[in-house]
Amino acid sequence: MIVAKSQGHGSYRAQSIRSWLHAFLISKKLPLHRYGQYHSSILNDEDFSDAIKLHLQSVSQKEGHFKAQDLVDFIASPEMQQRLDEAGIHKRSISVWTARRWLKRLDWRFGPRKNGMYVDGHEQEDVVAYHAAFVKRWLEEYEPRMVAYDNDGNPVKNPEGYVLEGKYRGQPFRIILVTHDESTFYANDRRKVGWLHKSATGKPQAKGEGESIMVSDFLTMEWGRLSHEDQEARLLFRAGKNRDGWFSSDDLLIQVDRAIDIFEAKTNGFAVALFLFDNAPSHQKRAADALSARKMVKNPKQGWTHHPGGPRMRNGQLPSGDTQEFYYLDDHSTMPGWFKGMEQILRERGLWRDGLLAQCPGFKCEAGRTDCCCRRILFLQPDFANQKSALEELVESRGRICDFYPKYHCELNFIEMYWGAAKFRYRITAKTSNIDEMEANVKACLDDFLLLMNLYRYANRAARFISAYHGGLTGADLNWVNKPYRGHRILPASMIAEVKASIEQFSAKK
Ligand SMILES: [Zn+2]
Repeated sequence: MIVAKSQGHGSYRAQSIRSWLHAFLISKKLPLHRYGQYHSSILNDEDFSDAIKLHLQSVSQKEGHFKAQDLVDFIASPEMQQRLDEAGIHKRSISVWTARRWLKRLDWRFGPRKNGMYVDGHEQEDVVAYHAAFVKRWLEEYEPRMVAYDNDGNPVKNPEGYVLEGKYRGQPFRIILVTHDESTFYANDRRKVGWLHKSATGKPQAKGEGESIMVSDFLTMEWGRLSHEDQEARLLFRAGKNRDGWFSSDDLLIQVDRAIDIFEAKTNGFAVALFLFDNAPSHQKRAADALSARKMVKNPKQGWTHHPGGPRMRNGQLPSGDTQEFYYLDDHSTMPGWFKGMEQILRERGLWRDGLLAQCPGFKCEAGRTDCCCRRILFLQPDFANQKSALEELVESRGRICDFYPKYHCELNFIEMYWGAAKFRYRITAKTSNIDEMEANVKACLDDFLLLMNLYRYANRAARFISAYHGGLTGADLNWVNKPYRGHRILPASMIAEVKASIEQFSAKK
């Protein structure tokens, strides 16, 4: 503590120094991680890099994208200047060139804008509503069932059990959060074209960027990486032509199935896993036989399936609650085993009207209309609207809880901080064009125990964000939460009020 204080840092710094000393005593070598070099090293300060991420997220939510100049301007803003001042940094403006380097370090890549980055007004509303519902689920259904730890890993709260009802009936009371994500390590830097955060790109990287290794893994606060004896949930994937191909949503299903086995072997039924995934389109993919009105034909058709060559669509549900078959019986006189078509499906549901089109031109139905065409009506039917993703169906079929983080909020997934720290280490390993060496380097970084020791802190930080959102703090305001309250996992209303008051004071001073 004395060492840290004399350098003008708080207890967090004391904790890192303590961790370093531990590491040093165990491994007899100092960790790679270093503070004190300005510029990119300040990015290792999570509060600082989070402030940047949150700001740029809000810019790109408004504008659809942002420019490197936005980062330059943000660094020049009074709140960031104050932050740099507190960190004892004297050179306080950055060039566009430095901004680009920082963006790369923060996992943003300059590239053609992908569809995912465009957020139209309607989607924006859905995103906001989802975010609020997630925060509510977290605070009311998940958090009370989790053991809370302080940043050093000492349990500070044991869940107090009550009888589980409804959708959680039959589960053990205790929840262990198992957070998932994928991240890619690159041998070389990539060629450039707007900055996108890596979470915005759904597609694997194009060739010509050097070798890359994708890691898909699960972290828990309790045990770090999810593994048991010689089994581990982590998957390393060499993407590309002549490599392992691309990591598909089916590959993820196989991995998740194995992760559940490992979780079971480890817990033996004393806790239920809450699997949390990124809200990526590939994670929302439905099973091949899932309900979908997207490609349905209006008239009966022999051999129709949603995916050409795929399985028949599963049964739907009539408004009465009875099962609805979408295919005629095999002994039907004229259309044995044919797909019924949307018209007949709607007739059986009592929803058919003469003159209904299969769909409005381009399926661009008038805003707010719910009964304009066959496809829109079916699309809004409860069984179609509530169709779950394949991932959710798999996890739930095995009696676990499955949920998805809100879009554009990677600060809520604590594995992101782990990736960031691992990449920082990776970037200073020797550059190699040998993929086996590269893989060994990536693994060594991911297994760095110093980094795994920080998981409690990462997870508490993510949980703190969630409770701050609940208290009504948003975007850039959240930056204010981290420093003074870093010891807390949940922020009581009184603290959130304090934060709000200090923001108001600060804004008034400006
Ligand atoms: Zn329509």
